[in-house]
Amino acid sequence: MTGLANDTLHDTLLWAPQAWVDGRWQAGVALRIDAASGLWAEVRPDVPPPPGTRVLPGPLLPGLVNAHSHAFQRAFAGLAERREGENDDFWSWRDRMYAVALRMSPEALEAVATQLYAELLQGGYTQVCEFHYLHHAPDGRPYPDPLAMSHALMRAAGATGIGLTLLPVLYQRAGFTQPALREDQRRFATDVERLLTWRDSVRAARQPCVNAGVAIHSLRAAPAEAIARLQRALEGDAGPIHLHIAEQTAEVDDCLAATGRRPIEWLLQNVALDARWQLVHATHATADEIDGVARSGAGVVICPSTEANLGDGLTDVPRWLGAGTVLSIGSDSHVGRQWPAELKLLEYGQRLQLRRRNVAAAPQAQQPATAARLYQRMLHGGAPAAGFARWGFEPGARADWLVLDLQAPGLLGVPASHALDALVFATEGLAFVEVGVAGHPVLRDGALPAQAAIAQRFAATMAELWAPA
Ligand code: ZN
Repeated sequence: MTGLANDTLHDTLLWAPQAWVDGRWQAGVALRIDAASGLWAEVRPDVPPPPGTRVLPGPLLPGLVNAHSHAFQRAFAGLAERREGENDDFWSWRDRMYAVALRMSPEALEAVATQLYAELLQGGYTQVCEFHYLHHAPDGRPYPDPLAMSHALMRAAGATGIGLTLLPVLYQRAGFTQPALREDQRRFATDVERLLTWRDSVRAARQPCVNAGVAIHSLRAAPAEAIARLQRALEGDAGPIHLHIAEQTAEVDDCLAATGRRPIEWLLQNVALDARWQLVHATHATADEIDGVARSGAGVVICPSTEANLGDGLTDVPRWLGAGTVLSIGSDSHVGRQWPAELKLLEYGQRLQLRRRNVAAAPQAQQPATAARLYQRMLHGGAPAAGFARWGFEPGARADWLVLDLQAPGLLGVPASHALDALVFATEGLAFVEVGVAGHPVLRDGALPAQAAIAQRFAATMAELWAPA
C-alpha cells in the first residue's frame, strides 16, 4: 500500500478505475472520506485498490451544482407546451406559471420538490440552489411560520440527501415603472430586513447540507435603493448573492428606458460585483458587458433547457468562455433535469447558430474536448454559486460523487478517455448508477431507496393541483 491509510474505523475508502481529478481523467484513484465531516480527506490517483476499500463499478465524476432552481415549477413542466393565441412568449408563460404558484401549499411544494430533488440526483446534481420567492400563503398573508415554504424545501432536500443552498428572494415591485407588485405576485412580497431574517433562520437551523445566501429577483423587481441597502448589509458575509439579469430583450429595453443603461451595464456601474454575485440568464450581453463581468469575478448561471423552452435567445458562449468568466448550470423551470443534456444543448445552440462544430473546445489551450471543457468550467463555477470554497475531488471538498453506468447504451464499449464526451453527446436517459453526497451513497442502482414512494406522492399532488376547478 502506498500510504493511503484507513485512519479510523469509521472512515470510508473508495477506489475507482478512473476518476476526474484536477480537470482530467486519472487512473486508479483512491479516495478517503472523513466520516466526521463528510469531506474528502485524501485523493490519490495512480494506486491499486487499498485493502478494505470499496471498489466502484465505473468511472467517477464529481457531482455538479445546479445553480438555479424554482422547485415549484417542476409541477408545471410539460404543461405549457400548447399555444392558444396568436403569440406565446416568456410573458404569457409567466402569467400561466403564476397561476400554478398561487395553488402551491407547503405540503404540495414538499411533494413536488422531493420528486424534483430525487430526479436532480439521478441527473448528476448533488447540490441545488433554490431561488425561492414563494414566501407567503396564497392570499398574500405571511404563514404563522414565515419559513413554512422554506421548511418544505429543506424537508425535501433532507428526504433525498441532496445539498441545498436556500436563496430567499427580494421581490418588491412588478416592473421598473410599477412601484407595487401585481395582485398575482402577492405571495412574493418581501423587504431587505425580512430577507436577512429568513436567511439567518435557515442558517441557525443547521440542517446538514443546507446553507443560505440571498437573491434579488431582478433589477425590474427591486428598486436601486433596496439593492444598495442589501449590498451594505451583506458586507463581510460570504454567502452567495444571485439575481436574474438579462433573460429577455424586453427587460433589457425596459431597463434602458428606466435607467439609461442595459441591465448588466447598470449592475457593473452601480454594484461592486465580486465572486459572491451570480448573474442568472446573462443571455443578452454585449462584448463589453461580458468582459466587465469576467473582470469582476462574478459568476454567470446559464440554464440552457429553460432558456430554449422560453425562447430567451442564445448567449455568446465562446466569448463568455474566452473571457474566463466563472460559469455554472441551472435547470430553472425543470423542463430538463440532467446536466449532461444541458451541456449538450448549450453546445448545440452554438453549433446551429454558427454552423460550426465543437464551438466550446479550445485546442489552442490544449482543451480539444468540448464536453470536458464545459464540464470543468461548470464544476469550478458551481462552487461559488452554492457558497463553497472547494468542490470536486480534492481534500476539504464535500465528499460527493457520481458513478457512471458503463452499461448505459451510449457508454457501452466507449474508450475510457472518451467517457465524458459520450456521456454528454451520445447518451440519452439516466447514466449514473450511484450518487454520493457528503460521504454517503444516496442513490444506488440508479434510484433512491424511496423513489417509488416519492413518485407516488408527487403524482397524487399533481392530480390535486391539476384537478378541474
Ligand atoms: Zn429563474
